[in-house]
Amino acid sequence: MTQSSDVIIIGAGVIGCATAFHLAQRGISVVVLEKDAVGAGGTGRSSAIIRTHYSNELTARMALHSLRVFQNWGDQVGGVVGFERTGWIAIMDVRDMPGLEANIALQRGVGIDASLITAADLQELMPGIDTGDAAAVAYEPESGYADPHLTVNGYADAAKRLGAKIVVNCEVTGIRFEGDRVAGVDGTRGRFDAPVVVNCAGPWGARVASLAGIEVPINACRVQVAVYRRPAQFESHPVVMDLLQGAYFRSETGNLTLAGSIDPAEANAVVDPDDYAEHVDAEFELEMGEKFMRRYPPMELSESMGGYSSIYAVTPDWHPVMDEVPPGSGHYICSGFSGHGYKLAPAVGLMMADRIQNVADPEFSTELFRLDRYADDAPVRGQYEYSIAG
Ligand SMILES: Cc1cc2nc3c(=O)[nH]c(=O)nc-3n(C[C@H](O)[C@H](O)[C@H](O)COP(=O)(O)OP(=O)(O)OC[C@H]3O[C@@H](n4cnc5c(N)ncnc54)[C@H](O)[C@@H]3O)c2cc1C
Repeated sequence: MTQSSDVIIIGAGVIGCATAFHLAQRGISVVVLEKDAVGAGGTGRSSAIIRTHYSNELTARMALHSLRVFQNWGDQVGGVVGFERTGWIAIMDVRDMPGLEANIALQRGVGIDASLITAADLQELMPGIDTGDAAAVAYEPESGYADPHLTVNGYADAAKRLGAKIVVNCEVTGIRFEGDRVAGVDGTRGRFDAPVVVNCAGPWGARVASLAGIEVPINACRVQVAVYRRPAQFESHPVVMDLLQGAYFRSETGNLTLAGSIDPAEANAVVDPDDYAEHVDAEFELEMGEKFMRRYPPMELSESMGGYSSIYAVTPDWHPVMDEVPPGSGHYICSGFSGHGYKLAPAVGLMMADRIQNVADPEFSTELFRLDRYADDAPVRGQYEYSIAG
């Protein structure tokens, strides 16, 4: 039996579910098709850090809008999202100071509470931290992290309450066109018709786009997270983005800390998103543990708790593709969030709904993220960026 709706979304990660929520809020009928379970892709293993530090105005504004949604989740989406306001700190080299100053000016200009702080301030925020090499330090008091499972399921449940359908265990195997327009998809649980199809398949984004005969430069790249249990007296700590060591550390409930890498070389770890090593490598666990203790010496007494791997959807400029391809076809791509899409998802859902509805004066334009920027050699660039920090 064929099912019909106004919009089909492929992929029930945080991006697909946020988009479904915004469309359903406008009375548009939506079917989300997910080959596995809600949140089974990169979203489910996201470190879910929420910060507003970006080096171009649009993404900074998107991050701020999204932060406000995470802070007011109950009113805006419903239920709880586990937002923890721990504050966010970035530690950089003295060479980064001019760029950092410029970024902070940009952020303050769009209303973000961000500032440069001294090593003494840093000690106060995180007693025991090693500030020896910390020449340039940024601080965002409002940032922190939330729970990615609560987030994606919160969006999915809210979309369902508004009439959306989420079909799990349904892999999309074909995208159908009639003339220049998309007409629907074929899935392992049947045929679905709609005049609009949105590819929110994250690390599978290129594979799904190829079903429509479109090439998108998105690679699935393996990334690892190591987990440590902190000594009992250290209840929580701010999120630390340690650019000097190329690592991030963030608290997790249960007195744990998650540690991961911030390294553009992660783009080289291209894998098959359906077949990659999901464990953490022993060397990575050791390396992150050493970095964590070097930065935060009281953690010498912490215990290694293993870890896991997951996948980023990485594009050449570490920014997503959000576009209708070909123009006027009703076929949209919204994938390739390159390791920083979780914190932006609330804004992205709004942007995609506005784009699909052709809203004349949207709060955020998707123009910067058009697919042909790669062919035009006009990648997204910030005024001053540090790999994934965008
Ligand atoms: C380890 C890790 C740490 C991260 N940390 C952060 C962080 O701290 N802050 C931050 O902002 N971002 C972070 N990110 C990035 C962020 O989590 C992702 O950008 C975001 O979750 C991507 O969501 P998505 O919906 O685009 O993709 P996904 O969550 O991967 O969802 C895509 C979905 O599409 C489905 N799918 C694929 N092919 C098909 C098909 N043919 N038919 C049907 N369904 C299909 C998949 O099963 C999947 O569920 C992290 C990511 C990882 C992996």
